[in-house]
Amino acid sequence: MCGIVGILGSKPVAEDLVEALRRLEYRGYDSAGVATVENGHLGRRRAEGKLKNLERRLLEEPLSGRIGIGHTRWATHGRPTERNAHPHMSPKVSVVHNGIIENYRELKSELAAKGRVFEADTGTEAVVHLITDAMAEGAGPVQAVRAALGRLEGAFALGIIFAGEDDLMIAARQGSPLAIGHGNGEMYLGSDAIALAPFTDTITYLEEGDWAVLHRSGVTIYDRAGAAVE
Ligand code: GLU
Repeated sequence: MCGIVGILGSKPVAEDLVEALRRLEYRGYDSAGVATVENGHLGRRRAEGKLKNLERRLLEEPLSGRIGIGHTRWATHGRPTERNAHPHMSPKVSVVHNGIIENYRELKSELAAKGRVFEADTGTEAVVHLITDAMAEGAGPVQAVRAALGRLEGAFALGIIFAGEDDLMIAARQGSPLAIGHGNGEMYLGSDAIALAPFTDTITYLEEGDWAVLHRSGVTIYDRAGAAVE
């Protein structure tokens, strides 16, 4: 069982992302990574093994960015290498995922036929490229994620950020837990409330099938049918 965190912060978030991941270490993991939006572009650092390896990477090559996602991976599809560690990304979209996309082979071959190139062996990359493909066809980020979610079979908790979007994170939950933390001008995402405890104790748990659009000013949560829910 691996861990997801996300922060829409008011200062650079890489260090806090690692701190939140540390609080999810009890779940077990074999690699870890973080991605942020740096000057409009997606930046990423990943490392095999313990979080201290990721911290070392970040010391050597720091990541700026006030919005970011992080992940501790427990490999199910693809070996526990840096290449397969999350976040996965295209130039436009970066995704962390807990769970298993059961129809990833079929999705990847459909996307490969459209010219999408995959770098890793995980099912998660199918999510990255479904969203990227929808955006290439003209959809905005929210519309693209909504379309992608409709194609996914299996279990997932997802955290998603976008190049050029400094105030937008999208989360989704089907079969894997996910919590949203409300801060003062900041918002958080985590596999559980323990990860978010240093930042906030005001938590919303997504229900099965829910997905959420987060900005620093707040969150809108939708059900599977796309209706806004309380
Ligand atoms: N199935 C994905 C992978 O192997 C996610 C694993 C996880 O839940 O950490 O990368």
